[in-house]
Parts: sequence; C-alpha cells; structure tokens
Amino acid sequence: MSTPTLDRVLDAVFRVDGRFDIKFVSEKGQQWLAATASVTLPTSFLQLVCADDVDRFCQVCDATPDGFSCDIRILRNDELCWVHVRGYRLAAAGQFVLCLIDISNWKRDELAGRHAAEHDALTGLPNRVFFKRAVEHQLLSGTGRFTIAMLDLDGFKKVNDTFGHAMGDAVLIETAKRLTKIVGPQDVFARLGGDEFVLLMADADLAAAQARARGMLLAMARPFETAPHNAYLGVSIGLAQFPEHGRDCSVLLNNADNAMYHSKNAGKNRVSVFVPKESAVDFSIQTAIHNGIQEGEFYLDFQPQYDLNRRLIGAEALMRWKGQDFGQVPPDKFIPIVEESGLMPFLGTWALRFACHQLRQIQTLMPNFIMSVNVSPVQFGAEDFDQQVLQAIAECGVSPASVVLEITESTLMHSQERTERALATLCKHGIHFSIDDFGTGFSSLAYLTRLPVSSIKIDKAFVRAIEDEHKASPTEKKLVTAMINLAHSIDLEVVAEGVENESQFAFLKQSGCNMFQGYLLSRPLSAAALTHLLEQQTKVSA
Ligand code: C2E
Ligand code: CA
Ligand code: CA
Repeated sequence: MSTPTLDRVLDAVFRVDGRFDIKFVSEKGQQWLAATASVTLPTSFLQLVCADDVDRFCQVCDATPDGFSCDIRILRNDELCWVHVRGYRLAAAGQFVLCLIDISNWKRDELAGRHAAEHDALTGLPNRVFFKRAVEHQLLSGTGRFTIAMLDLDGFKKVNDTFGHAMGDAVLIETAKRLTKIVGPQDVFARLGGDEFVLLMADADLAAAQARARGMLLAMARPFETAPHNAYLGVSIGLAQFPEHGRDCSVLLNNADNAMYHSKNAGKNRVSVFVPKESAVDFSIQTAIHNGIQEGEFYLDFQPQYDLNRRLIGAEALMRWKGQDFGQVPPDKFIPIVEESGLMPFLGTWALRFACHQLRQIQTLMPNFIMSVNVSPVQFGAEDFDQQVLQAIAECGVSPASVVLEITESTLMHSQERTERALATLCKHGIHFSIDDFGTGFSSLAYLTRLPVSSIKIDKAFVRAIEDEHKASPTEKKLVTAMINLAHSIDLEVVAEGVENESQFAFLKQSGCNMFQGYLLSRPLSAAALTHLLEQQTKVSA
C-alpha cells in the first residue's frame, strides 16, 4: 500500500451549508471542480457525489452531525474516484467543513488484496474463501435446489513425481482452463488446493449436474502434453445436492467429498452421487458389534492354501461374526462398519492373536505351516501397530517368518511415512507381506519394488474370468499371465485365490502360480476341521 505524504493527503476542502450547497472551495478543490464540471459548476456538494453513494453519505451526516467520516465516490475528471471525507460541524453557522482525501490508490490495493485473498494465484480461479461465500449467498438467496461437485484429479501425484512440479503446475492450469469452459454462466468453479477443485452448479438439478460432471470427465480424457511423454489423467467426482444432502455449506462440501471418495474407491475417473447412510441400521449393527466383541461372537475360519502339488502348506484366517440379532453376517458387510466405528485396531489384533494361537497348535503337526492374516488399512493408523503385531506373535510363541500379513493395494498407495516405517520394522523381524486383491486397485507397480512385499494374491475376479466356459477370454488369460510374470520378475511369489475348477487350476499351475486357494481345494474351515485335514495329510505322507 502506498504511503501518501502530508501535502498529498489533504486533497480538497469544502465548506457547505446544511443542505450541502457549496459556500467555499479550497484551491485544490477548485481545480477538482474545474476538471470535473464540463458544463456548469456544481452548486451543491451532492452533485459531485456518485449517485449510489448519496443516500449513505447523507445518512452518516444525519447520524453524527457533529463530526463524521466516510468513504464515498466523487466524480473527478469524468471518472469516479474514492475519497475519504471527514466532516466537522461549524456550530454557529450551521455549516460543515468537508475535508477530502483521495484514496483511490488505497481502494485499488484493497480490492486487489481482496481479489488475491479470494483467488488462487496459480490458476486464477476463486479459492475456498470465495467459494464458501458463494454457497452462503446461494443459500441466503433462497432460490432452491443447487448441486456441489467435488473433483479430485486421478494420477496427479504421479505427474508431479515423474515430470516435476513445473509440469504439475502446467497440468493444473490446463485443467482449470478445460473445466472452466464447461461450467455454466451461473456456476462458481474454484480450486480448493492441490489437485482438488469444486463446482457450485447454481441452477442445476441432479440430472443436469450429472450430465455436466460427465462432460468434465470427457474434457479431462484428452492427453495432457507433458514433455517428454503425454500424461493421461482422470478425475473422480462426487456430487451433493441442496437440500437433500445437506443444508449448510460445510455439510454439503463434506458429503460431496464422501461421494468423491466413493468414486475413487470404485475405480476412479467417474461420477458418484452422495448416498445418505441408513444411519439407524448402521447404528444398531455398531452396537451389536460392540456387544458381540464382549460376548465372544467373533471367531475365525481358516481357508487352506496349497502348493502346486496340492499339498496343504498354509491357511488364510477369515473373520466370522454370528450376532445374536443379525445371525451370520459376512465380513464384507461388517468389516467396513467395524472400520468406521474405530474398533478395527482392536478386532484386528484379536484376529492376529487368535490366528497365531492356532498356528502354534498346527505347527506341532507341520512346523513350516504358514498362516496368513488380513490387515485392514485403518490398522496402520495406530502409532504402535508394529509393536502390537510383534507382541501378539511373541506371546503365542510362533516364528514371525511363518506369519503373512495380507494388506491391500490402497494401504500402500496411500501409505504414509508411518505405514512404511511399520512395514519396514515388521519386515526386519521376518514377517512377510502379501498384496491382497492384486489388480483391483490402482496397480501402480512402483510400490512393489519400494516396499517389503513378498507375494501378491491374484484376485478371484481375475481367476473367475480365466475359465468361463461360455465366454472364453484370451485377454483375461494374458492379463493373469502378465501379472504372474511381472511378480516373478521382481522375486515375488504368486498366490491365486478363488480357484473353483480344474481348468483354472491347470492354467494357473502352468502359468507358474506358486500357491492356490479356493473352493476347488477347500472351503474355509473351522480350526478343528483344519487340524483334522492336516492330520490326514500327515498320515498319508507318513
Ligand atoms: P479376501 O481377503 O479376498 O478373502 C477371500 C474371500 O474369498 C473370502 O471371503 C473367502 O471365503 C472367499 N473365497 C475363498 N475361496 C473362494 C472361491 O473359490 N470362490 C469364491 N467365490 N470365493 C472364495 P470372506 O470370508 O467372505 O471374506 C471377505 C473379505 O472380508 C476378505 O476378502 C477380506 O477382505 C475381509 N476379511 C475377512 N477376514 C478379515 C480379517 O480378519 N481382517 C480384515 N481386515 N479383513 C477380513
Ligand atoms: Ca485376504
Ligand atoms: Ca482377496
């Protein structure tokens, strides 16, 4: 902001009567008037004041007649310029002295400052502050239905890491340009930070908003020209609508964000609409889970794992819950609820203990038996996850090398420093890691070489596609072979899950798969049934 010197500060002095008729004008003031009045000299000060500001000016004078100050716009050289007016009442004559200071520069700075505070410097788009104000305004205007879209680029981090930040910036600028073309005249499109954007669709009902969001997917599908190679990015979009999905700005933003994460988890580069939770049901299941833990309703089944000669060599521990009111609930249903309720670290550690306890007994029959245990991504959130695992294993008296922790691709993709540290510590103690559901997630292979992983589990969806008698699928077969070759090329073993028939088994065996698991070989079994199976195998081979 410029600092005016004193002689510049006081630009003009006027003396006016109670009706603002001009009685005296200082020399500078006269210059103003000469420059201003192209035809006749104004007789009233109010003739100089911008029509929009007259009422406000008069109100301030009336409210504090002894002395007042305000900022108004004055006509000068046929231009409106901002002045700061201080008025003093001359009690005897009922007149006012008005001292004017030209503050146009300050106002410009102030407006520029406000522009900077409400806009993103990189893309020039409005920022979060501006966006929130726009939503508040929309809410106050009471014009009804509108939709918020939350956007998060897919693969932006990769562009940044591979091509550098300058290229990352260029991609963000290009994204802003492409998407701005799609937004409607009433819409507000803003950048929230990083690769997160948000759109307020002022006039849009849900169907129109979905159509516009799909237009954004298309706009992003064109390659970004990043030297030396083009980059292909996508965008995950989540929609939330007023008033169905929230009645204030933060709830709407939050729910659009939830829907956006749904898009990410469902495979990215798509549009999802927020789905309100059946909170009452969730809540009662949550309560039942709490009770179930106390009542001992959770237990583990074990699904046998075989080598290529169909020798039983290990098992995967699978969690089971038989609730009093809900009956047998599949883990796909209860585990997300357990994760959300914050109980997963507890239940996960319990499962590991229970599995290691079984392992200890099984190893009396077969000392190199391997036990695999699933680990939820949220368990890595615990500061001392690695210590809990080591302690559980030590308490049961099994060797860490006979334990495999099955982790998901998303654990690795979103891995934080803490996760990587925990993995490294556990690996140092001899524990093995396997990537579960391989191929269904992001499948960026960079993490495979960086992190201490020793095997991948080909997801049952791929295995199922190998040998579907009705639609033989050479592409799926090639994909599975490629995955196996890739894993072997970086010294990872491959476990196939969901093997249901002989032709799948034959193909996987021929492709070099190391371990097999599925209904063809055995369904998940109780601990007692697993022990029995192992005893039989031991007898046969003895
Ligand atoms: P997952 O880790 O991919 O486990 C394999 C699932 O495939 C199991 O389902 C298993 O019963 C099923 N399965 C095994 N063989 C076949 C087959 O031949 N055909 C078909 N169609 N399915 C087969 P389940 O037990 O219902 O578990 C579902 C998911 O729940 C698991 O998928 C895992 O993600 C999660 N889960 C289970 N137990 C635990 C646990 O202790 N901790 C955590 N974090 N997650 C668990
Ligand atoms: Ca698993
Ligand atoms: Ca799996």
